Amino acid sequence: MNDALEFNYEQWLELFSKWNEPKFRTDQVCQWIYTRKIFNYHDMSNLSKSLREKMSINILITLPILIKQSKSKDGTIKFLWQLKDNCKVESVLLNHGSYKTACISTQVGCAMGCVFCATGAMGFTRNLTQGEILGQFLMMEKLNKADINNIVFMGMGEPFLNQDNLFAAIRILNNPKMRNLGARHITISTSGIVPGIEKLSEFEIPVRLSVSLHAPNDEIRSKIMPTVNKNYPLQKLIDALKIYKAKTGERITFEYAMIDGVNDKIEHAYELAALLDGIQPYINLIPLNNNNNLNLRRSKELNIKEFGRTLKSLNIEHEIRKERGSDIEAACGQLAAKK
Ligand code: SAH
Ligand code: SF4
Repeated sequence: MNDALEFNYEQWLELFSKWNEPKFRTDQVCQWIYTRKIFNYHDMSNLSKSLREKMSINILITLPILIKQSKSKDGTIKFLWQLKDNCKVESVLLNHGSYKTACISTQVGCAMGCVFCATGAMGFTRNLTQGEILGQFLMMEKLNKADINNIVFMGMGEPFLNQDNLFAAIRILNNPKMRNLGARHITISTSGIVPGIEKLSEFEIPVRLSVSLHAPNDEIRSKIMPTVNKNYPLQKLIDALKIYKAKTGERITFEYAMIDGVNDKIEHAYELAALLDGIQPYINLIPLNNNNNLNLRRSKELNIKEFGRTLKSLNIEHEIRKERGSDIEAACGQLAAKK
């Protein structure tokens, strides 16, 4: 059976044309689903009764089922969802007052096995469909009873290893007749999948790119991000990013988790600045978040500050990130969909 969240705009048009309905039905239905978050055809009051019935019979609206919701003392909310095959994923809603960001998953688990990441420790199960990616966001907006301003693909999984479904979902989020979320409010985070970066530079929607770098050289990166760095070592990654930047003119953000004694020495700050020379990076320094599989520790606060000061002296813009949602295991690298 067909599923509404798997339809793009053109497919809705096609369907209604096949059913001899006027074109504007597409806009009506998309508005119900994506703007008003009405997921029951019988409540779509500007459609005829017979059309509502026809739709109920022919097209499901499958949404993830909320199993658990946890609220952090800083306002961050974590959602645990169950999908139709019983797989589970998590999403996070970050509250900055009236400004809200949804952190969305793209895969069940992750194949990359970065040693500091709880999702990596789960291994990979499967890609999420376009509808499952959208469903997390729509359900969060529905439960939140208000629009969410930003979306970051920084939940479970490597977005660029599920790129077709991810881009299809972004086209729907961005479409003015659907969710109408601006490209500047959408960010994709990658561990450094080069073909994905290349495809993003051809993508018609100028979303933002964030790269999980975490190391200033191949030796360290191979230790903590073994899979991705074996396939796309740093020089290849940097070359791809330079091409991406030249093509799109986009500023790239880098994530750098500060790990005690591993990547947090002053010499690493110098190496990092040299590595990113000519890229005009913006670096987020993230004090490593704890998760169970760690024998790694977060850098000492003093060392993080010193690292930041060194970057600044080298004219590298950066920010030391505040930890959010860690009391409910909703911070970066803590998502593992445990029940
Ligand atoms: N797979 C993509 C998208 C997930 S984003 C990626 O890796 O970019 C999750 C972010 O949290 C990434 O930047 C990741 O590197 C970071 N992260 C993972 N484990 C972490 C930890 N223990 N502490 C801080 N950040 C972590
Ligand atoms: Fe996968 Fe990203 Fe975690 Fe690495 S950091 S294991 S790529 S989710």
